[in-house]
Amino acid sequence: MDDCLFCKIINGDIPSDTLYEDDDVFAFRDINPQAPVHFLVIPKKHISGPAAVAAEDEKLIGKMMRVGAEVARREGIGDGFRLVYNNGADAGQVVFHIHMHILGGRDLTWPPG
Ligand code: 5GP
Ligand code: ZN
Repeated sequence: MDDCLFCKIINGDIPSDTLYEDDDVFAFRDINPQAPVHFLVIPKKHISGPAAVAAEDEKLIGKMMRVGAEVARREGIGDGFRLVYNNGADAGQVVFHIHMHILGGRDLTWPPG
């Protein structure tokens, strides 16, 4: 999608600190980390957010979790990390290309803010 920040990151038009890439999925460090380890896992397919996931995307969304866990282990937080999807502006979503946040490396309190 032309005016999507994360599509531009996938295409290399905007540089990122890339942690993983294959034909389907891309992972990169968050530019404004909220924990010692904070990265994003995104599908290469443009999907605007969790509520826009279609039945045909189910396998892709599952792959994001597997890849995220693999990168988390590599980043040294395999024993404890948090997955976050923000859906909609009211929940703090600012980039409308679905992304899974993975955070770790510090105590993570519950409930989240
Ligand atoms: P949201 O609030 O939409 O769930 O999360 C968007 C995330 O994208 C934020 O944590 C923000 O720091 C991150 N982000 C925004 N712009 C960029 C960018 O240009 N590069 C990277 N690496 N992360 C970004
Ligand atoms: Zn996009």
